[in-house]
Amino acid sequence: MHRKVLRRKRAARSKSKKVPWYRRERSTLLKLLFWLAVLSGLLALSWWWGQTARSRQLASQSPLRPQPSSLPAVLPMPPMPPAASPRQIPLPAVAQTAEKLRRDLHAALAAWAGVTFPEETPPPEEQHPGRQELIRVYADFPSRAWIKGLRRRLQKETPDVRLRIQHAPRALEVTSSQAGMSFLVFFLPPASPFGKNLAGKPLAAVIMDDMGHSREVAQTVMELPLPVTLAIIPDEEHAEWTARLARQRGREILVHVPMQPLGKANPGARALRTDISDQENLARLRWHLQRVPGAVGVNNHMGSRFTADGRRMALVLAELRRHGLFFVDSRTSGSSVGYRTARNLGVASTGRDVFLDNERQVGKILGQIDALLAKAGKQGSAVAICHPYPETLAALRQAAPRFRARGVELVPVRLLLDK
Ligand SMILES: [Zn+2]
Repeated sequence: MHRKVLRRKRAARSKSKKVPWYRRERSTLLKLLFWLAVLSGLLALSWWWGQTARSRQLASQSPLRPQPSSLPAVLPMPPMPPAASPRQIPLPAVAQTAEKLRRDLHAALAAWAGVTFPEETPPPEEQHPGRQELIRVYADFPSRAWIKGLRRRLQKETPDVRLRIQHAPRALEVTSSQAGMSFLVFFLPPASPFGKNLAGKPLAAVIMDDMGHSREVAQTVMELPLPVTLAIIPDEEHAEWTARLARQRGREILVHVPMQPLGKANPGARALRTDISDQENLARLRWHLQRVPGAVGVNNHMGSRFTADGRRMALVLAELRRHGLFFVDSRTSGSSVGYRTARNLGVASTGRDVFLDNERQVGKILGQIDALLAKAGKQGSAVAICHPYPETLAALRQAAPRFRARGVELVPVRLLLDK
C-alpha cells in the first residue's frame, strides 16, 4: 500500500515540472543522429563503388571491344594453334590412350617373351583412328590364364579394351575404341639358338634363295658352319620336304615367291604378274604361302617388273600382313617399291643390302662377304642374299672365321626387320 502511494506521488511531481521528453533526452538524440549520418554515408559509398565496378565489367563485355578477356581462363591461349578446328581437338586424347595401351601391351609382352621392345611410336601421319598395328613376339602362344591377366592389366588404363584370339593365322587381337585402334599380336616360334646374346654386336643375315629343287642341296646347306635362312620356291618339287628339314634343324624359312621380271627370264608358271587380275594374283600368293609350312616371312624371286608396281605390291603385302608374315625386298631392281610399300602398310620388312654371288667365283664371293661384314659394322646390321651354287657354298664354308674376326653375329633375318 505504502509503495503504490510513493509511485503516484513521483509521477505527479514530474508532470508538474512540464519539461518535454526531447529536451530531457537531447544529448542522446544528437548522438543517434550523428551515427545514422555516418552509417548512411558508408552505405552510399559502397553502393557507388559497386555501380562503377559493374559498369566497368559491362563495358569490357561489349561487342565493340576487340575480344573478351574471359576466354583465356578456359582455353589457355599459348598452346592453342590459332586455326585449331574443333575436329582436331579430340584426337590428342585418343592418341594418348593409344600410346598408353601400346606401352602397357609392350611391357606385358616383353615380360612374356623375355625381351625388350624398342620404343616405337608411329609417326603422326600414321596415327589415324581405326588403324591396326602388328606386333610379332618370338615366343610360344600364351595360355588363357595369361591372356586373362593381360586383359585385367590393360583394362586398368583403358577400360573398354577387348581381347580376342584369332585363328588361322593364330594371333591375339587387342581392340579399344577409346584408343581408336587395334593391335594384332603374332606369336612366332622362338628364334634359333643363334639369335641369343647379341648385345652390342653388329648383326648380319644370309638368305639362301632358290631352295626346294633338290634334297641333296638342302642337306648340303644344312651342313654349312653358318646358320643361313632358307628361301624356298613353293613351286619346286621338294619345297615341302626342304621346309620340314629346315624346321627340324632350327633354320629360319622364307617363302620365295616368284614374281614377274622385266626381261625374258621365266619366273615359273605360278608367278605373280602385272598382266593378270588381282584375284588371280591373290589366289597364286595363297597357294605359295600354304606350300611352305613354318615360314615366317616372304622374299621375292625375280620380280623386277612386279615389285615396281605399287598397287599390286600393296595387295600382296596386305595379304602377308593378314598372315603375320614379314617381307624382305630382294631388290632385284632399283625401282622396287616393295620395302617402302611394306612400311606404309605396317608390314614388318627389310631389304637386301648385298648380293654375294652375282659373280660365281669363290674369291669374289669372299670379297662380297667382307662387304657384308663391313656394312653390318657400319649400319649395325646388314642382309645378304645368295644362291646354292657350288662356289657360294664353298665360300660360305670358309667364311665363319671372317665373321668371328669382325665380331659380326649371323642371325635369322627376322631379328633385322625395319632397320
Ligand atoms: Zn630367286
